[in-house]
Amino acid sequence: MDYSTECSCGKNKALVQLPQAIEEYQARECDCDFCVSYGLAYISDVKGTLSFSPRQTMHQLNQGSGQATFWQCSNCKDIVAVTHRDNGEERGAVVKTLLSKYTLQSSVKVSPKQLTSEAKPERWAMVWSKVVLE
Ligand SMILES: [Zn+2]
Repeated sequence: MDYSTECSCGKNKALVQLPQAIEEYQARECDCDFCVSYGLAYISDVKGTLSFSPRQTMHQLNQGSGQATFWQCSNCKDIVAVTHRDNGEERGAVVKTLLSKYTLQSSVKVSPKQLTSEAKPERWAMVWSKVVLE
């Protein structure tokens, strides 16, 4: 099922394709300082896809171990998505607040900061959606 959304100012659009209805997903709420400060939780499905654009108007932020890229609207400062590129394949997750117009399950807490730098991409490869270009 396809779900489209945009950041607060509307400059950046995201399209999320999920194999199940979005109401069945629990966002993952990361407990690192960066995500907590922005109140970020993420939705993805390893069998789903994510696209967002236009990337040229977004800031790319790195934090913590620097392995993940956070995509921020340069205008309204919303974080839209997080991605990671591994072996030429980009995977990512969309930020839950962008999908707040849907009725979502309560989030579950996750703590990727406890994973090693080797284990993080392995974890993301199991839970994040494939990023596709529009
Ligand atoms: Zn914006």
